[in-house]
Amino acid sequence: MDGLRVLITRQQIAAKVSEMGARITADFAGEPVVLIGVLKGSTIFLADLARQIQLDASFDFIAVSSYGNAKQHSGEVRLVKDVDHSLEGKNVILVEDILDTGLTLGYIKSLFQAHQPKSIKIAALLDKVSRRTEPIEADYVGFAIPDEFVVGYGLDFAERYRNLPDVCILEACSDGA
Ligand code: 5GP
Repeated sequence: MDGLRVLITRQQIAAKVSEMGARITADFAGEPVVLIGVLKGSTIFLADLARQIQLDASFDFIAVSSYGNAKQHSGEVRLVKDVDHSLEGKNVILVEDILDTGLTLGYIKSLFQAHQPKSIKIAALLDKVSRRTEPIEADYVGFAIPDEFVVGYGLDFAERYRNLPDVCILEACSDGA
């Protein structure tokens, strides 16, 4: 498609997601886990990751809105949809498409700590390491990527491109700032 350049192929994604699932399976050693997806970007990653986790796994979803536009985070995050079930005593794995400044996951993680889960981990498919402003890291990371605006595999630009099977750089949109 015009203006799109493949950064990570579907084959690379599948291999990495399978590795991540195997690590999670080994780390939790037979214990149940709750996968919590951050709508909507994480849905495709969560669906694939869940099928690579050989544990008793349940799903829940939250939605947040961050003020600002697609490329510029205002620093304010608001919970739009909370989890449906209590997380008390559970092994929680927050599943996110991309870790950028860290504001979103920092906010969600501190919010969930108040639920007193047994453990709380973060699985992020992509990590824009150079953009981080918050002291937060993912426990399971797929790929470290450069500071480019990416779409596909769940990630959108104005709700488009989520269904692309590869992670692509949206060239018209990446200013590298
Ligand atoms: P953070 O709070 O870590 O700055 O931002 C995380 C959120 O910003 C992601 O969940 C995603 O919605 C959005 N985001 C950050 N970088 C990109 C990107 O390159 N492409 C897309 N589509 N969304 C991004």
